[in-house]
Amino acid sequence: MAYEIRCSVCNSLSSNLLDFKCSSCNSPLIVKQKRKFDVKQIGNDNHSLWRYAKFFPYIKETEITTLGEGWTPLVRFSDNVHFKLESLNPTGSFKDRGSTVLISALHKLVKKAQCYISEDSSGNAGASIAAYATNAGLKAKIYVSENVAGPKFNQIQFYGAEVEKVQGSRSKVAKKAQRDEKGKVYVGHILHPLFRDGIRSLAYEIAEQFKWHVPERVYLPVSAGTLLLGVLDGFKHLVESDVTEEMPKIVACQTRQVSPLYHRFKGLRYVSPEKITSFADALVSANPPLLDIMVKDLKETKGDAVIVEENEIFDAFKELARKGFFVEPSSAVAYAAYEKQLQNRKVAKDKRTVIILTGAGLKTSLKP
Ligand SMILES: [Zn+2]
Repeated sequence: MAYEIRCSVCNSLSSNLLDFKCSSCNSPLIVKQKRKFDVKQIGNDNHSLWRYAKFFPYIKETEITTLGEGWTPLVRFSDNVHFKLESLNPTGSFKDRGSTVLISALHKLVKKAQCYISEDSSGNAGASIAAYATNAGLKAKIYVSENVAGPKFNQIQFYGAEVEKVQGSRSKVAKKAQRDEKGKVYVGHILHPLFRDGIRSLAYEIAEQFKWHVPERVYLPVSAGTLLLGVLDGFKHLVESDVTEEMPKIVACQTRQVSPLYHRFKGLRYVSPEKITSFADALVSANPPLLDIMVKDLKETKGDAVIVEENEIFDAFKELARKGFFVEPSSAVAYAAYEKQLQNRKVAKDKRTVIILTGAGLKTSLKP
């Protein structure tokens, strides 16, 4: 086999691509590539994520559902800092990497079983899954929290997904989406291992765009952990395949309000707020189911974690816009964290750095 899907806790193998958790112990699943990355197998004529199709061995190339995602620009911001413009993906966020891989792998199976897919998200992931599902001719039902509003919610509905509002906390929304119902296949982006696996492509792109000399540091915002874990996996795969010499230091950036990873990573106690009011309204996973895996992987790869304050996020958001980079406030968290580390001398100005700008500014409801 070119890959395996196994349990992150008990190591049981999963042979069904529709599984979103271990069938023995219910823990999260992880995908492991068994075949080395080989630069010669890149589809150089394809200027999308699918130039790396050979490294997603569980997908048949004839069954790919694509809207032109990936191969996003890497733009120089200052001497040593580059931005990776993930906001330029088809639905406006990096989540399209996960959706294109997940839906490409599953749409035939789901249709054959005469089923529909379900997902829980009122934000970028909900919009992204809705777009790829409709493009593949699949019915999608997106579970959202009752107070959902704004451009992302509009986007989900315009893609034609059915929406169900759920009262209560974020985990209640997830539970409702996962509940067994006739014809329903749960593909939640946080738990489904193939969604996370699609994010691997982001690391390949950064490395290739730097001609296989990886940057020293990569800053990215972290909520449920799909971006962090996908990027770590991609860079690890390149090192294991002897394509690149070493891992960049991955810096996980969180808001003070929602910072379970930062606190656990630094050995500090974390109490989540009763109500999340941060500008960074896409970063809401106060109790992420993948936390154990995130801490383990970040430690093993000698990464780091930072938190930023609300005023720092807002200043970073405005500063980016004034330079012409209009991103959603949650994306500004990574830039705010970089600026903070620069001021505190935790990072030197000459370190080659990439900051991932995850989502488009047009998705924000903030008023100037
Ligand atoms: Zn297990």
